[in-house]
Amino acid sequence: MYSKMLILRFPKKRVGEPIVVNLAKKFDLTFNILKATIYPRKEGIMVMELSGDKKNFQKGIKYLRSLGVQIETVAQEIKKDENICIHCGMCTAVCPTGALYIKRPEMEVVFDDKKCSACELCVIVCPVKAMKVRFNEESFY
Ligand code: SF4
Ligand code: SF4
Repeated sequence: MYSKMLILRFPKKRVGEPIVVNLAKKFDLTFNILKATIYPRKEGIMVMELSGDKKNFQKGIKYLRSLGVQIETVAQEIKKDENICIHCGMCTAVCPTGALYIKRPEMEVVFDDKKCSACELCVIVCPVKAMKVRFNEESFY
């Protein structure tokens, strides 16, 4: 069984198509969607764990790319810079795993790296760039 955490970026014209369902139907892959968001410009981002036979996995990746879906493996490590964070809470609204949460009554935003899936959604939304990423060089394809 081969399994990877992926970030898929769907072009506007593909949002709404049953592309992910086809990964199961056509390539016998299983998926666990952690987060699916459509952004204001209508492109979609999905964070998922995709699993299956390695050859089928690669075929599934080819299929996604043929439809214009951008695929990234999840970054290796996410860090929170406590010197920069202003505890605004924006990252807690997008974090799919609960790795970022508000500690009460202090109202501090806490980062639990053990729960982090490295999806990078917090990196995108943080207004002061307190969430940092170290990229994974590993290739699956
Ligand atoms: S979005 Fe950035 S500044 Fe706001 S709580 Fe999260 S890490 Fe801190
Ligand atoms: S990268 Fe950020 S949003 Fe994604 S799971 Fe880790 S802490 Fe949460």
